[in-house]
Amino acid sequence: MKSNKLHAYVTPLLIGYNPRPLANTFETTMPTIPACPQCTLENTYPDGANYVCADCGFEWPMTETTETDVDTVLVVKDANGTALQDGDSVVLIKDLKVKGSSITLKQGTKVKSIRLVGGDHGVDCKMDAGNFMLKAEFLKKV
Ligand SMILES: [Zn+2]
Repeated sequence: MKSNKLHAYVTPLLIGYNPRPLANTFETTMPTIPACPQCTLENTYPDGANYVCADCGFEWPMTETTETDVDTVLVVKDANGTALQDGDSVVLIKDLKVKGSSITLKQGTKVKSIRLVGGDHGVDCKMDAGNFMLKAEFLKKV
């Protein structure tokens, strides 16, 4: 009778104990793949630097941090200290000679829909004369 009681006491403990390490091993070996941002299904898998959704074929980069990094680092200010944004319209506040060419960008030239790229010449400007990388200090938001 004594051994039966002991046996009955030990068995539930073993049953309760065994599934835990199994579950933990399963979780740690599974890579954490986010659900598809397009169709929200979780049938996704890593492919190189991207995640791929098997259901809709959507691909997106694993590193989502790069996007937020750009947002916080990229502050480009115009001649008045106004922060510029992608898609802003600006005018040139002085004549700018384009290096390595005879082109001069005239003061007062309006540039629609600028694109911020960062760096020394941080503003990508599309003009009639071509595409130019300009310093924000020579531009004024309109
Ligand atoms: Zn999908």
